Amino acid sequence: MFKINDNYLKLPGSYLFSTIGKKVNAFQAANPDKKVIRLGIGDVTQPLAPAIIEALHSAVDEMADAATFKGYAPDLGYEFLRNAIARNDYKDRGCDISADEIFVSDGAKCDSGNIQEIFSVDNKIAVCDPVYPVYVDTNVMAGRTGTYDASTGMWSDVIYMPCTVDNNFAPDFPKETPDLIYLCFPNNPTGATITKDQLQDWVDYANKVGAVIIYDAAYEAYISEDNVPHSVYECEGARTCAIELKSFSKNAGFTGTRLGYTVIPKDLKAGDVMLHSLWARRHGTKYNGAPYIVQKAGEAVYSPAGKQQLSEQVAYYMNNAKIIKTGLQEAGYTVSGGVNAPYIWLKTPDRMTSWEFFDYLLEHANVVGTPGSGFGPSGEGYFRLTAFGSCENTVEALERIRKM
Ligand SMILES: *Cc1c(COP(=O)(O)O)cnc(C)c1O
Repeated sequence: MFKINDNYLKLPGSYLFSTIGKKVNAFQAANPDKKVIRLGIGDVTQPLAPAIIEALHSAVDEMADAATFKGYAPDLGYEFLRNAIARNDYKDRGCDISADEIFVSDGAKCDSGNIQEIFSVDNKIAVCDPVYPVYVDTNVMAGRTGTYDASTGMWSDVIYMPCTVDNNFAPDFPKETPDLIYLCFPNNPTGATITKDQLQDWVDYANKVGAVIIYDAAYEAYISEDNVPHSVYECEGARTCAIELKSFSKNAGFTGTRLGYTVIPKDLKAGDVMLHSLWARRHGTKYNGAPYIVQKAGEAVYSPAGKQQLSEQVAYYMNNAKIIKTGLQEAGYTVSGGVNAPYIWLKTPDRMTSWEFFDYLLEHANVVGTPGSGFGPSGEGYFRLTAFGSCENTVEALERIRKM
């Protein structure tokens, strides 16, 4: 008789976005005349930039001709893309990462979920709280997290690093020593960042205790301040302790097109085993690569025209972020984020819970956001708004919030 992987049964239901969906649908059904504005989703809304569309079209034409047709892509990605990444995202920033340390994939969600496979089930993970749910849930599926306590929303074998207003949303070193440390800066959901010195401290810590940092840099393109690191490899010693995840979703609008990459330096070893070899083996065995046409589109992200158009796209979203942040501040809210990230993290007023504020905002402003408690227990009493809407809707949403 077959048995299932009953780690899956330990997962609490995907409560957050299904509950939001149900509440919004119920509100809309009861109030068909009201225009609901959604500032909850973490998905982009601007179309792909012209330079990317052009690259897609020409790659499609190549696929129509036997002379230029492409079948399976190389396991780890096409050289043209890996070279463009190595040059633009690393070499030009003074980071020592070579093209053959880059693994092209179909996105950072999959990579952040899959990467734990190359580590023993005995490893203990540390995560920020609140956190992007993928890191914890994929470790639950692997059986690495112990038991779930519904009253605290915490797993017995996970090390939580609270990120609240008290530490400026930057985690402190945990009391218990972790084996794997998930860090994401600029952060989803808080929109917070850490300085290069702070990240250097984490790299030094990881090297000292023998931990691996899994660094999610999905929002790197939104960094506007000088002392904020764009890559963990800006830090000395990161080559022996850090894996970096990148995505084309948020900087270039590839959420539906799908492209990302993972960096594993060859100096990152357990004894004399390179993690690079394990991940290469996994890619070769379980993955057949991002499509050629999408990798060509990814190459266009690094062309002069692509860079120019994408910086305008990021600026468009960051203008929304500014509208949200200043609008909320003027209305008397305590807000953070929105400077190096497309997320604004606000303290709920009058000691409301995150869900109470969700209902209040939906009822009185017809605006949808995301309750902070959905990202972890330390998110309780906070609320996330995103800058990924249209400018018109963002302006209107803030006018309504100010009138509440
Ligand atoms: C959006 C996001 C990603 C990107 O995932 P893709 O699979 O590349 O679309 C990765 N990490 C975080 C924290 C995100 O918010």
